[in-house]
Formats: sequence, C-alpha cells, structure tokens
Amino acid sequence: MASNTASPDVALVQKDAHPFERAQLEGLMTKRFFYTQAFEIYGGVAGLYDYGPSGAALQANLINFWRTHFIIEEDMLELDTTIMTLSDVLKTSGHVEKFADYMVKDTKTGDIYRADHMIENVLEARLQGDKEARGKERGAAEPEVAPAAADKKSKKKAKSQAIKLDDAVVDEYTKTLAMLDDFSGAQLAELIQKHDLRAPATNNEVTKPVEFNLMFESSIGPTGQTKGFLRPETAQGHFVNFERLLDFNNGRVPFASAQIGKSFRNEISPRAGLLRVREFTMAEIEHFLDPEKKQHPRFKEVEHLTLPFLDKHVQMSGNTTIVKMTLGEAVRSGKVDNETLGYFLGRIYLFLEAIGIDLERLRFRQHMDNEMAHYASDCWDAEIHTSYGWIECVGSADRSAFDLTMHSKRTKHDLVVQEALKEPKVYQKYLATMNKKVLGPAFKKDAKGIEDAILALSQDQLKTLMHDLDAGSAHVELNGAKIPVNKEHVTVEYKTIKESVRTFVPNVIEPSFGIGRIFYALLEHAFWARAEDKDRGVLSLPPLVAPFKVLIVPISNNEQLSPLAKEVSHRLRKMGIASRIDDSSATIGRRYARNDELGTPFACTIDFATVAKGTITLRERDTTSQRIGKIDQIISVLKQICDGSLDWKGACQILPEYTGTQDVEDS
Ligand code: AMP
Repeated sequence: MASNTASPDVALVQKDAHPFERAQLEGLMTKRFFYTQAFEIYGGVAGLYDYGPSGAALQANLINFWRTHFIIEEDMLELDTTIMTLSDVLKTSGHVEKFADYMVKDTKTGDIYRADHMIENVLEARLQGDKEARGKERGAAEPEVAPAAADKKSKKKAKSQAIKLDDAVVDEYTKTLAMLDDFSGAQLAELIQKHDLRAPATNNEVTKPVEFNLMFESSIGPTGQTKGFLRPETAQGHFVNFERLLDFNNGRVPFASAQIGKSFRNEISPRAGLLRVREFTMAEIEHFLDPEKKQHPRFKEVEHLTLPFLDKHVQMSGNTTIVKMTLGEAVRSGKVDNETLGYFLGRIYLFLEAIGIDLERLRFRQHMDNEMAHYASDCWDAEIHTSYGWIECVGSADRSAFDLTMHSKRTKHDLVVQEALKEPKVYQKYLATMNKKVLGPAFKKDAKGIEDAILALSQDQLKTLMHDLDAGSAHVELNGAKIPVNKEHVTVEYKTIKESVRTFVPNVIEPSFGIGRIFYALLEHAFWARAEDKDRGVLSLPPLVAPFKVLIVPISNNEQLSPLAKEVSHRLRKMGIASRIDDSSATIGRRYARNDELGTPFACTIDFATVAKGTITLRERDTTSQRIGKIDQIISVLKQICDGSLDWKGACQILPEYTGTQDVEDS
C-alpha cells in the first residue's frame, strides 16, 4: 500500500471537477441498491419505489436523527395512527372536496398531464429556445443553458426550438412561471388558450383543466358500506386524538405531537423519481398553541440564524430573488408571522444542515395567497435545489384553528382548551334560553332548525330579537322563511357573566417533512466524481446518516486476517456503528471505490501489521488520506466521530499519517 500524502482537510477536496450528471447518480442508485422502481420485474409502476439495503439504512438514519432532533429534543408526543382513514374524517377536513390537482388531456392521444406542470414545461421550453436563438445571434456556439441530461430522456418533455421571442413575451412568461403555483383552474385554462399551449410530446391541443382528487379510495369491511381513504397526510390522526393528547399533557398548551409514517397521493403524472411519488414517508409535527400566545420560549436559540427567504410579495411581482436575513429580523419585521413559526424554520434549517444538505441550495419560500392549502393561514416551504429545480421538501403551515374547529362541529366533541383565569372576567351579554317543551310540539320537525338559527344569532341580532319578543313581533328566519316566535318559545336576557375559565380552540403550526424528497436531494448534494476519474463516483454523506459508517477491508484472503476483521466489525457493531466487511477478491482500490459509492465515510484496512503489531489503517472517504493506530485507538476515534464529538481534522491530530513503515506507540 502506498503512503498517502493527500491533505487531510475535507474542505479542500475538489468536488466540482466534473459537472453533475443525474444519469450517473441514478446508475449508482440502482447498482448499489439504494432504491428501484417497485414491481420492476413486472414492468414497474410509476410513482412507486422500493428501497434496498443502502437506501433503507440511509432512510432509517434520517428518521432516527429526525426523532432525536425533534421528538426527543423538543419533548414531543409521538403518535402512530392508522393509514386507512374513515372518509367522514377527510370530508370534515375538506380533503374529499378539495384535495385535488388540475389535469389536462391530449385531445388526440389521451395522454394526461398535470395542468400546471404542462404549462411550466412548455413555457420553460420556449424560454430555453429564446436563449438559444439569442445565443446564436451573438455567435455563441453553445446554448446558454444546457438542457438537463435526464430531460432528454423524458418522452413527455417539451423540446426547445431556437425561436426568438419578443422581450415583452419573455417577461410575461418569466412572471407567469414565478406565479404559477398561485393560479386557479380558470386561470390555468386562460393561460393555455392565451399562449396556445399544447401537449409537449405531440403538439396536439389539450382539453380544459379538470380537477382530479388525489386520494386513493377504499372501503372498510365486507359490506363496503364504510368508506375509507388511504391517508394523504398523517395530520388528521393527530387532530382526531386531540382530546387524549391534551389530557396526556395535563390539559395545557403549547405541546406538539409528532408522527412518522406513510402517506398516499394518487399523483396525476408522477415524475422526477423519488420527488413525486404515490406512496411516501412523511414526518409531521402538529404544534398546538394558544392563538394569543404565539411566542416561543426557545426562539432565542435560533434568532441569530441567517436564512434565505423568498416571500410572497417578491413572487407576486414576478421575481424569485432570495433575501437573506436573520430569523430575529424576519419575525420582528412581520415577514414570518410569529415566533413559533420562525422557531420551526430555524430548527428545520439546523436539521437540514446536520444531515448534509448544501445550505447554498436551500431557500424558504412563502406560499402566495391562492396557493395556500385550504386550511392554512400562512405557509413557508423549505425548498431544496436539485437538478429538477427547486423542490418543496418541508412545508411549514399555520393551520390556524381550522381542523379542530371542523372536527368539533362534525363530532360535537369540544376540541378546546380550558384555561383557569387569574382574575375572573366580568361582562354583559345577550343570552337566549329555549323553552324546548313548547318549541318541540309547536314547530315539530322545524324545532331543531329554529333552535340552531337562534343560537347562531350575533349579539346585535339577539338584542333585536329581545325587543321584538317584548313587542310581540318576533320571528326567526329558517330556510328563507320568516317563522313567528314568542316568549313562550324563547326568551332573551341581557345578563352579567362572570367567567373564571377561558375556553379557546388552539391554533396549529405544522411542519411537514417529505422524507423521500429530502433523501433524494441529499443524495444529489452528496454526489461528485473524482477529479482524476469521472467514473469514480463518491457520495459524501456525513457519518450521522451514512448507511454504513465503516468498511472493514482485509488486505488479502489470508486466513490470519479474517478473524481480526470479524473482531473489529463485531466491536463496532456492538457500539451501534454499522460496519461491513468486504472480503471479496476485488483489488483494494476497487473495494475502496465501491465503498465511496455507498457513501461509507471510513475504511479500516486489516493487514499483516494488524497480526504482528495490532495496528490498522483508517481511510477517510473524501480525502482518501490514511492514518494509522492501534485497534483500540481506531475504534475509539470512530466512536467519537460517529457520535459527533470529533471531526476528521481532530482525528488526524490523534492518529499519525500512515507512511507504510512506521511503528505506532500505545496511547
Ligand atoms: P403537503 O402536505 O402537500 O405540503 O406535503 C408535505 C410534504 O410532503 C412536502 O413538503 C413534500 O416533502 C412531501 N410530499 C408531498 N407530496 C409528495 C409526493 N407526491 N411525493 C413525495 N413527497 C411528497
């Protein structure tokens, strides 16, 4: 083995010698079985993926860290609720009616497109063609922006043609793209007509956009009478258990519940690999709080962080410029609505940083008003840049009191918090009292409707009703008809009320993580190819999330080495450090290369010095530099690196560089 004199400084490794190629990463994903299309041997199904040993381990590590960073550190209440969800629940939450995307159909081939994706695709292709035409005019040999490698593969992508557009048209297309997420179905139809947008694959006309509900419908039990859906989010499981969660938390807010589990969305045309799939793992937090107290006690810990923001006003002006500012400034200036929402944006930022997301390719984008989900009052997405563009990976919505209010109304369970007041609150109020014994027989089937109509009256309306009852001319409106009522049916009094308890519906702030999207974005950010050989891919995954932390490589198949390799591996695994032995007959260089593709940060080489002197070498993946130490010392360094208390630079201060000849002192 040659001595390695490369700099041990990970930051100095040249990772941008070759431009990123998605096809190369995808090839690696399959070769090293991170993930693959589900039912591959049957031809596969779009939007469904299976994770192999490397992918499953990486995902499990992401989830484990998510549990530590959020559930444990923030003392959240963990849930595991059912995937099969009663349709009544999703009717109440608005999903049955509104959880839909618009789709269009190619009028000749019947090909289906998600309307906004098709529009985006065609406009981007036209803008690309414009750039190419302008480039040619200037005599440039190459287009300014090269189409992404994988785009060439997609049959449904619009091809760009070098056609120059008017400056005003370029401006209009650019603005439309910045605001596309905000458009209603009617506006999408208008855009298609106005710009004569056609099916990308065939250039045929498309139908008007129609809504398509994204939930998978099912029925529960043999009669088929109880309808259900596979849940499209885990959130409803939290809301329907709110009473018990509140009780578990001694009747007090704020508290947060958290859940990690599968969700299902019947996406119109799944594309972009793991980024838009039909079955995916979500990790969701529902933070319940007093609507009058949206401060957060730990906001101070994150207020200094500088985050990249893209707010709704910037987008509405057709722009996508990122503004960097501290969370403290963002909350004080009202850009981010409140401290609790700001606190979560900070914690999300720290989470993404720790797992290895490139922070230069992260932004927090605010939803525009129409774009916001039907339940939300403010929403910021953590978007990560990939070769597919900016991708929403974590949505943080202020769902206000929407869900609990709706479920309360539907189930007649009071999903509220009762807070004892220090000083009782005294005030006056008009109160209606029904005389049900008279009301029932007098109005029969309408009695309930009349009672509900009276209970729904405002204070001003009750005051009028009180006067009208006194004057004998009172009536109540029911289904457009005026029904006369009198003091025998109902009385209204102006009463002094003394309240010692405040009752309120908590608001909910919901950070919702798509684990698959984060997983994929991370792989893109971690992937690079060695400067000296483009075909040698490396995944620079941090030890925290890498599927395997240490590869153990016996230098030959000599029988003296195997027991030592097993012993080192066993000791590491006993400490919870995932390690694998590679005792294949491949050359050591090939074994290291395989290791780099798996993202394994370290390799321990077992050789004859291990037998004779009890030393092993430790290779760091990114720098390929090697250090040497006694077995115990190496294991101790690995333990510290894996628990985050030591980095590679620190390790290099403990372990000498491997020169191939030296002896190592006992530490
Ligand atoms: P939403 O409820 O639509 O805000 O989604 C919450 C999170 O789930 C998003 O931020 C994504 O990370 C993830 N997500 C939503 N839809 C999909 C999908 N079809 N495939 C993969 N991840 C998704």
